[in-house]
Formats: sequence, structure tokens, C-alpha cells
Amino acid sequence: MRFDRSEPSTLLIVNGRKYLIDCGIGTARRLVEAGINSSGIRTIFFTHLHADHDMGLADVMATDFFDGGGAGQAGPFDIYGPPQTKELVDAGFRFISVGFRPFAAAPPTAYRMRGDEFVDPFVVHEIAGDGLVFDDGNIRVTAAENSHYLMIPPATRPRFKTYSYKVQTPDGVIVFSGDTGPSGAIGAIAGGADVLIAESSYRDSKDLDQSIGARAARNHWPPLMTNRFRDHFVYEHLDTAQIGQIAAKAGAKSVILYHYDPADKADQAAFVSGVKQYFSGPVFAPDDLDRYCLSSGTVAPCGSARR
Ligand SMILES: [Zn+2]
Ligand SMILES: [Zn+2]
Repeated sequence: MRFDRSEPSTLLIVNGRKYLIDCGIGTARRLVEAGINSSGIRTIFFTHLHADHDMGLADVMATDFFDGGGAGQAGPFDIYGPPQTKELVDAGFRFISVGFRPFAAAPPTAYRMRGDEFVDPFVVHEIAGDGLVFDDGNIRVTAAENSHYLMIPPATRPRFKTYSYKVQTPDGVIVFSGDTGPSGAIGAIAGGADVLIAESSYRDSKDLDQSIGARAARNHWPPLMTNRFRDHFVYEHLDTAQIGQIAAKAGAKSVILYHYDPADKADQAAFVSGVKQYFSGPVFAPDDLDRYCLSSGTVAPCGSARR
């Protein structure tokens, strides 16, 4: 963990309506820092359910439940994601219920109850496969299963889907890579994107060798484990050159990096250079809470959401 970096979560605001993409640890705190009331976010999308993308959900649900309209009155909150999202959200609601029961047990209570249990305001929509998954008249979201789970054997992979999302807005098209390897759907779904928000889990193979070597030494990993971990990054994540190649081939107009861990400002610049080897459009390397504005298909930095 880092002081200056939280786990992945991206807030999209279109015509004042708020959507959250992923919900890593620290999301609730980051929303407070950005001056956003989480109960005003009625729609959450999960790209996939790796722990770094979903462990902040219970925090957000608790805030929604407690703050939204006062004492569990708000809702519904719609949560979209791959198979097992219902299990995740139900577990989150059970988790937060324990802490709210003592409040509800002291009458009179404003909580909406069904018997002894709270009425659950969280509505889950599991996404079974590719295609249009959401259209509220404000944005349209299309899912494409990507190659982030390439190394899970085919027999069990249907339980573990992982998506990239194309979001069509009145201001332009945004593609969230989610976590993905370089193969598969990401190239196709990035086609025509005004902004490709691309995971960059490692800068290049030198960076990868160094970080894996250090981790293997620290944990006394045998070669098989070290190689398995390296393969996870090579086949199931993106480096900067691959992002540049994907963006160029897809004809994307710009790239914003995320899900990355640059050591310092110089390293952040090196991430940008890595993409620019292959891609001539604008490439942005944000700090946490940096904000970007999309207008008529052109994206530009517009300050930090940090208050
Ligand atoms: Zn992942
Ligand atoms: Zn991840």
C-alpha cells in the first residue's frame, strides 16, 4: 500500500449523473476527499472481482445505506458486474447489517425493515457476456470479455469473467480497459475511443523483471512460482508499449493511464514515453484524484478533485 495511491476506482460524471467503475480499497475515503457523497452514486460497474477492484465496496455500501436519505431510506443502488457480483454484494450487505442492527433495535426506527432484516437497497445485475449492458438515456455501456483471466483453465473460467467497458456519452466515447492482457477483446472495443483509460500494471519488461525479482527474493519463491507470477503480468496485464500499440491500431484519440504504480515523477514520465513509442496522440499519467474533462470528443486535464 502507498500513502499517495489508492486501489482502482474511477468516477465518471455525465450531465451531473455519477457512475463508479470499480471500488478498490480506499474508495469511500477518496470520495470524501473529492467532495462526493457516495449515496449520490446510484450505479456501480465492476470490471472484474479481483480483490484490488472490489475490497472497498462494503465501505461505500455502508455510507450509502447510512447516509442515503437517512437511515437506509435511499435506493435503489444498481451494481453491475461479472458472475459472482451478487455473492459479493449480498456478502457486503450482510457485513454492514451487523453494524446497523443495534441502531434499528432501539425503537422507534426509521429503517425500512422486513421482519428482523433491513430492506436491501442494492440491486445486482450480473453480466453474462458481451454486448450492451446498460442504457439509461444518458450513457450506453457495452461489455467485452477480455484476456485478464487467460490463465484460468477454460473449464472454470466462466465463473470468473473479466470485462472491458465502452461507455458512449454525449461528449464522446470512453473505453475502460479494466485489467486485461494484450490479446483478445481490448483492441476491438478500443476502436473509435475518444479516450482509452488503460491499465498499465508495469512499465516494461525491465521494470517487471526488477519488481518480480525483488518479490521472489523476499518471499523465497521457487522458480515455478516466480515464472507463474511473471506470466500473469505478461499475458494478463498491459505494459506501456502494448497500450501504445493497441491505441494506435484501434485509432483511439487519447490515452489516460491508470492502475499503475510509478515510483516518482520521472517514472511517471517514462510510462508516458513508453506509450508514445507507438502512439502519437495525447497520453496522460494522472495522480490519484486528478480529473479529466471530455468535451466534443477531446479530453483534457481539468484539475484535481482533491479539495
Ligand atoms: Zn485484476
Ligand atoms: Zn487490478
